[in-house]
Amino acid sequence: MDRSEVPMGDDTTIFGKILDGQIPCHRVYEDEHTLAFLDIFPLSPGHTLVIPKQRVAALHELSDESAAAIGRVLPRIARAILRATGATAYNVLQNNGAAAHQAVFHVHFHIIPRHGDAGLGLGWHPTALGAEAAAELRSRIADEIET
Ligand code: 5GP
Repeated sequence: MDRSEVPMGDDTTIFGKILDGQIPCHRVYEDEHTLAFLDIFPLSPGHTLVIPKQRVAALHELSDESAAAIGRVLPRIARAILRATGATAYNVLQNNGAAAHQAVFHVHFHIIPRHGDAGLGLGWHPTALGAEAAAELRSRIADEIET
């Protein structure tokens, strides 16, 4: 087994410990495949984390079943957060890998309601997409998609 086959998200992560009941959380939702709870260092009131119960580090490692379960509950939890906080805008943030600012290596989605500009700051520095590069990248990615 090489490093790429070793699951990085396991019961040693803080979220694994929350799933095991070793560490408390402010739970807002739970079902067979998912758990949602308040972020302990919120960027804004209502900042919530939605996690799969499957213990993997990154989004691309999720089973179809876990991915579907997360996709099903995210809009539901977002609606609840909007109603509960009065926010009308929110960001969904999902970091994969240390270079992408992931600190806890168990898949999680941040739902961050926006109350003005406070909390989350995003640097967004677009570049141009040339026709040749687009054609080449499009086909390389499309060819890699598992069906
Ligand atoms: P990441 O940078 O990995 O996407 O974000 C990890 C998030 O987990 C951070 O927003 C951090 O505040 C949150 N977090 C870290 N430890 C705990 C904890 O023990 N309990 C809760 N509820 N959130 C945590």
